[in-house]
Amino acid sequence: MVTRFAPSPTGRLHLGHAASAIRAHDLARAADGRFLLRIEDIDGTRSRPEFVDAIAEDLAWLGLAWDGPVWRQLARLDAYAGTLAQLRGMGLLYPCFCTRAAIAREVAASASAPHAGDGEPLYPGTCRSLTLSDRAARIGEPHAWRLDMGAAIAASGPLAWHDAHVGWIAADPASHGDVVLARKDAPASYHLAVTVDDASQGVTDVVRGEDLFAATHVHRLLQALLGLPTPHYHHHPLLLGPDGRRLAKRNGAPTLAAMRAAGADGREIADLLRQGNLPAGFGVRTD
Ligand code: GLU
Repeated sequence: MVTRFAPSPTGRLHLGHAASAIRAHDLARAADGRFLLRIEDIDGTRSRPEFVDAIAEDLAWLGLAWDGPVWRQLARLDAYAGTLAQLRGMGLLYPCFCTRAAIAREVAASASAPHAGDGEPLYPGTCRSLTLSDRAARIGEPHAWRLDMGAAIAASGPLAWHDAHVGWIAADPASHGDVVLARKDAPASYHLAVTVDDASQGVTDVVRGEDLFAATHVHRLLQALLGLPTPHYHHHPLLLGPDGRRLAKRNGAPTLAAMRAAGADGREIADLLRQGNLPAGFGVRTD
């Protein structure tokens, strides 16, 4: 068994991250498997180097040791470019020149624009219908690469994946529309990088929060298109704050660093989390 913790270095870790890392770590250790650490720093606009060191410090404080070298997505750009070229060669990608504002305008103009499960409007497909000569003429402009979802599903056929908490699930990538696989400002999107990396690292079991459950529909499709194995998934519930909202930096969740500075013992906190309890006194629900 190979599991991983794959944080984005966009802030300090909080208890929700800790709970997820502990689950992934303990699952691997119980099976005499390997627990990997991967830094998802593909988003250059939000990732910061100082948070990378902080992640390692926080995991050590919790008593979690990972196996092998730490992977950084920024060192993997060639792999993502190769995968994009493969999908482009299959005729499944198209360049998208739309700005966010243009997409919002188009969606607003169409009363019946379909929305994804998370309420985000689906991309209306504007650039899908550009002719080859339009594309060639504009390819020097900033552009993203989108997956032609209809063509991709036709190529893959029906798919399913397994979640340890929910059971077998029919993949529903269509609910995401034509997802972006390479952004204007980042050479690979989350969906592409995570799928390629989990396969390259031999991850057998993906442990992550249930906020990423729906993304797995897209990952399953990409695995099928690229001939990659499908891991087992373990989407766990998110920890909630006293206000019932998920712990997150923007909701004022205390960071592990703040807890450490206040004198907390990381290994004790890790054991509390293992028992399904939250430490008292840090603004998080303990009932
Ligand atoms: N990097 C993602 C995050 O921090 C998690 C990716 C994953 O576990 O698949 O939210």
